[in-house]
Amino acid sequence: GRFDREITVGFPDVKGREEILKVHTRNKPLADEVDLKVIARSTPGFTGADLENVVNEAALLTARVKGKRIGMQEMEEAIERVIAGTEKRSRIISEFEKKIVAYHEAGHALVGYLLPHTDPVHKVSIIPRGRAGGYTLMFPEEDRYYMTRSELLDRVSMLLAGRVSEQIVLNEISTGAQNDLERATSIVRQMIMEYGMSDALGPITLGKKHDQVFLGRDLARDRDFSEEIAKAIDHEIRRIIESCYQKAQDIIENNRDKLELIAQSLLERETLDAEEIKALMEGKSLGELDALRESKRNHAGDNGSKATAHQKDEGEKKEIPVDKKEEHHDDGNPPDREEKKEP
Ligand code: ZN
Repeated sequence: GRFDREITVGFPDVKGREEILKVHTRNKPLADEVDLKVIARSTPGFTGADLENVVNEAALLTARVKGKRIGMQEMEEAIERVIAGTEKRSRIISEFEKKIVAYHEAGHALVGYLLPHTDPVHKVSIIPRGRAGGYTLMFPEEDRYYMTRSELLDRVSMLLAGRVSEQIVLNEISTGAQNDLERATSIVRQMIMEYGMSDALGPITLGKKHDQVFLGRDLARDRDFSEEIAKAIDHEIRRIIESCYQKAQDIIENNRDKLELIAQSLLERETLDAEEIKALMEGKSLGELDALRESKRNHAGDNGSKATAHQKDEGEKKEIPVDKKEEHHDDGNPPDREEKKEP
């Protein structure tokens, strides 16, 4: 006889995502500017269900503004919602909290921008979303099937950079970094225990991994090593985290002027896109960039579909009470959704 076999379905690749999007948009009116290929490319790590959510959210957003066809802007907003939750513009934030969040996110963005092995920063924002006070989005341009040690280390530095920035600028640290620290620690632990990437412990895996997480077990791993090795692991985790922290600190200290620029611009505009961050890093003012964009729009003629591809969602945007993805917040970059930047 034949038994059903359990098959683990991996994340769909870019082609797969495009196909899934096609299926879910089949009966939905799309604007001509909507390119499913582009959406597929900006959603690495998304499952079929995530993509279905994106399409549904985009449809809701379109309906809310009484639009007839789903546009690219709605699609982009929907992607961000699925990743980070709904924007909460109504939440009252004190000036000090706003400042902490601005420097925290500026730290992520600056270090993410300058490290050679991190994903490009797609957007940074201090508008609360889900449970996060702010967020920095980094997107891969392609699917990732494996990662190198340098990439993982840079990601850890980037995750720690929010906390580093708070410490350096405000001489104060907040609870906002909790999720960053958790993720940084878990990446380092995996590097040592699963990927054999620690020089001190060598190319071995430590602990027996379970397919299932049993109740009451903290780690889904059985300890199959000595007390001594356990100590060595703890020591190595601490050492790697500290060296990544130091790296983030060096970058921020050596680029304090840029950090200030990004943080101040965030306080002013609340959200910065990739182009704006690049301009600030290259010493251009946002005013210059605005003027440049304006003239490009005028020169592009009336067929300005490209210019609408990433409009900034500034203050005038509608307040939306829906809030289903509470638990899914995050102010760093989601681990599965990152990629490589040309050095
Ligand atoms: Zn953070």
